[in-house]
Amino acid sequence: MASPRFRDTGRFVRRQAPTNTVKPANLADLMRCLDPASNVATPIRIRGAGTASTDCNTCSTGTTIDITGLDRIVGIDTYNHTVTTETGVRLGTLVAALAEQGLELIGNHDQMERTVGGAVASPCMGPGIGDQAAFLSTQVMSMKVVTPLGKLMKVSKQQKHLLNAFRLSYGLLGAIYEVTLCVRPIMTFSAKHRGLSIDTFADVANRLASREVGFKFYVLPHVDRVYIDLRRYEASPNYSYGAPWKLKDWGESTVLPHVFKSLNRVLPIPSVKYRLMDSICAATHGMVNSRLVGTGNNATATGTRRRRRSRSLLRSTWCFPASDFSVVVKAYREFCRETFAGSGYRNDLPAVGFRIGRDTSALLSPSFDEPLIALQTTSTQEKGWEDFVIDLAQFAENWSGTPLFCQSRSMRAEYGKQMYSNRLDFFRKIRRQLDSSGRLLNPYLAQHFS
Ligand SMILES: Cc1cc2nc3c(=O)[nH]c(=O)nc-3n(C[C@H](O)[C@H](O)[C@H](O)COP(=O)(O)OP(=O)(O)OC[C@H]3O[C@@H](n4cnc5c(N)ncnc54)[C@H](O)[C@@H]3O)c2cc1C
Repeated sequence: MASPRFRDTGRFVRRQAPTNTVKPANLADLMRCLDPASNVATPIRIRGAGTASTDCNTCSTGTTIDITGLDRIVGIDTYNHTVTTETGVRLGTLVAALAEQGLELIGNHDQMERTVGGAVASPCMGPGIGDQAAFLSTQVMSMKVVTPLGKLMKVSKQQKHLLNAFRLSYGLLGAIYEVTLCVRPIMTFSAKHRGLSIDTFADVANRLASREVGFKFYVLPHVDRVYIDLRRYEASPNYSYGAPWKLKDWGESTVLPHVFKSLNRVLPIPSVKYRLMDSICAATHGMVNSRLVGTGNNATATGTRRRRRSRSLLRSTWCFPASDFSVVVKAYREFCRETFAGSGYRNDLPAVGFRIGRDTSALLSPSFDEPLIALQTTSTQEKGWEDFVIDLAQFAENWSGTPLFCQSRSMRAEYGKQMYSNRLDFFRKIRRQLDSSGRLLNPYLAQHFS
């Protein structure tokens, strides 16, 4: 039977029972939290920075283990190009520590406030160049895990299949305590920016998606515009400065959402409001980005920097086959326009997309079979959002979208099974062996993994 999806009428407020949160400061604390003898309330959920868009990192009853107290970078090996770190370390802290040694992560990852643990236990994607840059989890060489029964377990490259299961395991096989990642010397790329109509973009999307380029784009469906950011390695690139990227990121992820939230409050007439918002977006992407950043590397071009206060941006992400994306992007434009005409709801921020290379390093890799384009829809407008993401999930199903258990809102469990098929069955078997009484399964994850 299909799992029900309820529409949010806005009339009822769902109250959640208070969750018990514990924050271990070291390995012994973490092992104690998971030890059944400690009688910690179940289900237990492991949480990094808590930036996932679904309930994969929380539970309304039971216990949440906040991993951010495990924040020690154990060591950087500049000779073998590896870093060993506890998993509560924020991505931004790790990127800065590596840059001091002339090293960078393989792959270009945004959202610097997330933790290393969240970024290897769930898909951490960005506009990296080449297939090996698909997910941060691809670079995990070994890890130390505290099992659902509170025991310490080491998983190394020699246990290939087990390591593949632990990458992108959503905290279902245990708490990842420490990881060793492959890194590399900083490499500078050139970044070129263009503004195109959606039809013109569709004409070139397939070609771009199959090349050795890093590829990020912003879609404004209501004004028929796409702004692309193309990155490639050059034989002799210029020096890359961090300040222009910081300014670009500040414009995109702080100024735009703040301005749009204010406009939503003070401008009651949708046509005027949205015209203004679209012009501000176009100006930011068309002028600021293209004039500001010409070169970058995975240390400077990291997108969203770490913030003291988390932003309340709404987000739902689906991935589409790269080979079909020229058709999907046009269908997405029509979907947004029809939704707006029908319900009056639209996202105020552009959808952001990037290419993800084919990656078989994790059992639950979304791009196990083919390269994908991730499309992140983002908005500041809460009223109508939950209805929008239900319709978006339907749209994604119609276009063979692959869901992400941590980022695709309103995905149906049946559809998840269909898309991950026998890999999901195999993962469930491993999960049942390691956690036979479902201590780490909250109701949301139980739909997909029990
Ligand atoms: C504004 C915004 C922008 C975003 N941009 C991007 C983007 O560009 N690219 C992208 O890929 N994602 C993006 N995301 C999604 C999100 O950042 C990722 O899902 C991220 O990897 C989650 O990291 P986290 O530390 O917040 O983990 P959480 O959300 O806390 O947890 C995510 C999952 O990992 C598990 N987990 C966390 N730590 C551990 C651990 N130590 N051991 C075992 N399991 C663990 C949790 O149980 C949960 O299932 C964005 C989200 C927001 C809100």
